[in-house]
Amino acid sequence: MRDIRIVIAGPRGRMGREAVKLVQQTDYFHLTAVVDYKNDGGLLSDFEGFPGLDIPVYSKIEECFQKAKADVLIDLTTPEFGMKHTITALSYGVRPVVGTTGFTKGNLDELEDICKEKGLGCIIAPNFAIGAVLMMKFSQMASKYFNDVEIIELHHDEKLDAPSGTAVKTAEMISELREAKQQGHPNEKETIAGARGADYEGIRIHSVRLPGLIAHQQVMFGETGQTLTIRHDSYNRASFMSGVKLAVETVMKIDTLIYGLENIIE
Ligand code: NAP
Repeated sequence: MRDIRIVIAGPRGRMGREAVKLVQQTDYFHLTAVVDYKNDGGLLSDFEGFPGLDIPVYSKIEECFQKAKADVLIDLTTPEFGMKHTITALSYGVRPVVGTTGFTKGNLDELEDICKEKGLGCIIAPNFAIGAVLMMKFSQMASKYFNDVEIIELHHDEKLDAPSGTAVKTAEMISELREAKQQGHPNEKETIAGARGADYEGIRIHSVRLPGLIAHQQVMFGETGQTLTIRHDSYNRASFMSGVKLAVETVMKIDTLIYGLENIIE
């Protein structure tokens, strides 16, 4: 594998810290700079938890790409900044690997066009945990046989977007094989707004936010006399890093946008 120069946006965050560790632990990954909107001009080693990492910190992503050489941007920030960072990276010929969630269909269409125009790869994955990707694939498989399904996603209470990108992606994958269907009783009424959750083509999505949780999802199928539950739990953020590593390696070989790790896992 050839050497890959990497910039990480959001290195102080919980995912960003794991990504820094991943880059350090991988021989052919090299961290050339980090982007942190609250700090400028210092070194990563100035922050708590990064001893000896004399990597430049830029507050502005444009300046970062002007000064530091990079092949790949790993973005682990917030929905508000993720899109801007991704577009900026592509404009500098840098391939984005985006874990930040909350991208809309409109965002993805726009990025797909930019990737095509520039001939650059970009991977956006709402969930980098390989087990979560298998959960989505198995759910898609089950939806051929079970027409009624509800998704319950459970995350820590600092998560900004709801429903989670993984839940939306799961619903999209199920909808590819399932006829849109209004579930529950046709005359059902919510006595408290939101009781039946969000509605994606008839699939109900329920978002739980509690301290103590990391990232969990349960896909429940029901049919006369039986239910099937497919569940995945991430117990820490290290669970996402094998997927990030695979995405960084893969993004160097592609020239389009790929949305979802399931599209790079055989
Ligand atoms: P977090 O701990 O809140 O980290 C986000 C970090 O980004 C914070 O340090 C924040 O700084 C920083 N930040 C915000 N705006 C920035 C900007 N413009 N430039 C640089 N840094 C910026 O959140 P997390 O749990 O690490 O999650 C990060 C993102 O990844 C979220 O969108 C989350 O939903 C997503 N996520 C994805 C996966 C996956 O598998 N794809 C898994 C878990 C989480 P301040 O706190 O100082 O504002």
